[in-house]
Amino acid sequence: MELEMADHEYDYDVLVIGAGPGGYVAAIRAAQLGLKTACVESRETLGGTCLNVGCIPSKALLHGSELFEEAEGGHFATWGITAKPKLDLGRMMEEKTKAVGELTGGIEFLFKKNKVTWLKGHAAFEDAHTVKVGPSTGSGQATTHTAKDIVIATGSSVTPLPGVDVDNEAKRIVDSTGALELEEVPEHLVVIGGGVIGLELGSVWRRLGAKVTVVEFLPQILPGMDEEVRKEANKIFKKQGLEWMLGHKVTGAEVKGKGVTLTIEKAEGGDEQTLEASHVLVSIGRRPNTDGLALDKAGLQVNNRGQIEIDHSFRTKVDGVWAIGDCVPGPMLAHKAEDEGIAVAENIAGQTGIVNHDVIPNVVYTAPEIAGVGLTQEQAIEAAGGDKKKVKVGKFPMMANSRAKANRDTDGFVKVIADAETDRVLGVWMINTLAGTMIAQAAQAMEFGATSEDIAYTCHAHPTHAEAFKEAAMAVRGKPIHM
Ligand SMILES: Cc1cc2nc3c(=O)[nH]c(=O)nc-3n(C[C@H](O)[C@H](O)[C@H](O)COP(=O)(O)OP(=O)(O)OC[C@H]3O[C@@H](n4cnc5c(N)ncnc54)[C@H](O)[C@@H]3O)c2cc1C
Repeated sequence: MELEMADHEYDYDVLVIGAGPGGYVAAIRAAQLGLKTACVESRETLGGTCLNVGCIPSKALLHGSELFEEAEGGHFATWGITAKPKLDLGRMMEEKTKAVGELTGGIEFLFKKNKVTWLKGHAAFEDAHTVKVGPSTGSGQATTHTAKDIVIATGSSVTPLPGVDVDNEAKRIVDSTGALELEEVPEHLVVIGGGVIGLELGSVWRRLGAKVTVVEFLPQILPGMDEEVRKEANKIFKKQGLEWMLGHKVTGAEVKGKGVTLTIEKAEGGDEQTLEASHVLVSIGRRPNTDGLALDKAGLQVNNRGQIEIDHSFRTKVDGVWAIGDCVPGPMLAHKAEDEGIAVAENIAGQTGIVNHDVIPNVVYTAPEIAGVGLTQEQAIEAAGGDKKKVKVGKFPMMANSRAKANRDTDGFVKVIADAETDRVLGVWMINTLAGTMIAQAAQAMEFGATSEDIAYTCHAHPTHAEAFKEAAMAVRGKPIHM
């Protein structure tokens, strides 16, 4: 007969595996709630994919490269400012590394402040309440730790593409991590995958001078987003100089000296063609990190996508084992992982931690930015049984927004999708310079169950880009003022 340990016999109340936005937030919240908490992380620094090789370094390079492009002939020229910028790529990379270091160091500080123990190394289950922490690389002594509750927050890594071998050291065929570390501006960068990461990193290198071709299997970029937004984004990025090969698949890659020859076919098959590149970025998606955890020893299996299944409280099917973030089903986004981190800690502490998965904003940090929350127009119509009359849409172009006009920055629009009968907002999609920040207002409105009328009658400061959201809401009932 297996004996249950008494609560006080465990080393920790809570042990979190992985210190990304999901794991480190869960650990801090658990400690704030008075639980004795440890977090296992195999990287040298805390913060996971997001802080080390994801959100933060990519946004740093997007910012630096945008400044360069603006100075080189973007808005500087529009405003009568002449500049002859010279790129010091090494310096730009240093500034990015500095930002990453400050933020990952910040998490270490927060761990100390909240008395979260960082167990350095790779964790694997011994049983549902015990993990073994071994050295991440090389040799060293493994240690064993027990906890009443264990949270799996191991995140995700790059999905490989058969026939196209990534080698971040050689810097010819790279993944997103390698694309954040290139030491020269590619002559011709081929990006495989027209999703968020491919478009963000493709934009960075295009702005710094690379010719960039995006090869995408589907007939349109940005899968999963609102159709109209996808089309508008396609048009704007094309105008900026990105080249598309949509409806195509890469079937192989051969590195030849300082170049790469890619073999490409139409998505539905057909004759092979070749495409020469100086560098290739493979960005076809990410997959959960669930290998190497010995999940079976805890009594767990993964689903056919390698994810750990959970209920709405983040409980796995094994008592005392919870899972959050990129390793569970749902969008792979840092803020979703963070919110789940807070909620899981609160649930473990006996409180009620909830995440509304219907209202998770999604942002592409290009210029202009693209953002959405809730249902796309297509999803809303599908949810209404295909009856278009049950869904009302209001759209407002940035061209008619006074602030965008004053800034000479009028690309894009805001779109509000509402239930025709109840007027409740079902989704908001936008493409404009400040979309990533503006979408928070839409998420908050939806969280409060707002109608389009609620938004239309909320006073918005003038002149701001946010007025376009108000006008799009007014447009749901056909009554915007400035259009
Ligand atoms: C280039 C790029 C840009 C991105 N930009 C954005 C963005 O702008 N906004 C956004 O919302 N999302 C963005 N993302 C996605 C975001 O990074 C992830 O959704 C987020 O990091 C997921 O958080 P997580 O805590 O689930 O996992 P992760 O951040 O992946 O962290 C998991 C951690 O667990 C550790 N680990 C794994 N297994 C073990 C083990 N067995 N033992 C010990 N430690 C282990 C890993 O080393 C890792 O540090 C981006 C991703 C990339 C790659």
